[in-house]
Amino acid sequence: MIFRPLKYEKYAQKAVDKLQERQPAFRAKFDTENYASWFYNQSSETLRLYSDDKEIYFRYIPVGTYSLNTNTWMWAWANEDSVETRKFRTLKVKEFGEKKNYENLTNAHFNGDKYTGWESTAIAFDIIGGIGTYRVITEHLEKYFLLTEQITKEKVEKIESALIECNAHGKIRKAFICQHLNTETKTGFEEAFETYRGMELDEDDDLQAWCSKCEKKRLKTDGWNNESMEFAKIKLVCERCYFEIKESNLDSKNTKHNKT
Ligand SMILES: [Zn+2]
Ligand SMILES: [Zn+2]
Repeated sequence: MIFRPLKYEKYAQKAVDKLQERQPAFRAKFDTENYASWFYNQSSETLRLYSDDKEIYFRYIPVGTYSLNTNTWMWAWANEDSVETRKFRTLKVKEFGEKKNYENLTNAHFNGDKYTGWESTAIAFDIIGGIGTYRVITEHLEKYFLLTEQITKEKVEKIESALIECNAHGKIRKAFICQHLNTETKTGFEEAFETYRGMELDEDDDLQAWCSKCEKKRLKTDGWNNESMEFAKIKLVCERCYFEIKESNLDSKNTKHNKT
């Protein structure tokens, strides 16, 4: 027996009803049931449905996975193996769960049954939104997606070309930082714009950050010019490295003099 307060049951049922009401129109519009195969790419967070004579692409947010071996659900935000940056969007579900005191939404994983995957996905759909949902099954793992938009093959290629291969984190979105930023010392962390993990970026926007010294230089030269750029020696890192550096710089416990 899994203990779940009635309140949660009621909410979950409402979310399932809502998804069931919306999903047929999505399926009909994109004819998603009539493709022979699927392929998803964690790096670009895109799902491709295809047959010999046709194909369609979607961007997705990973919701979570259900293991048929252990009968456990795991929210995407808790999945440390995945390189998908949009998984952090599911933290919105966790926040909602914290407010409402719904344990299933706040626990990284919990025991479930054959309905758990769709139920969790319906809740994510209710809280995060999307144009539809999709599930794929590989061996003993069900993986659930929120589909946010249909995109063209060209757009998928463009997303892929903007990725970098990081030794630590795999192939993911790239970011730019000055030569002084690192996870060991606090250098200050100035950004081109406010950022958070998994955020959507406009086509011309990149994650960009620099240290306090670079910021001083930049202000002195009245914006970036050859001199301040030379000082900053901007380099490429992956998105996850970027946020690790950001968080270690903002973390008050991690101070320079703790290191010897
Ligand atoms: Zn710098
Ligand atoms: Zn990295």
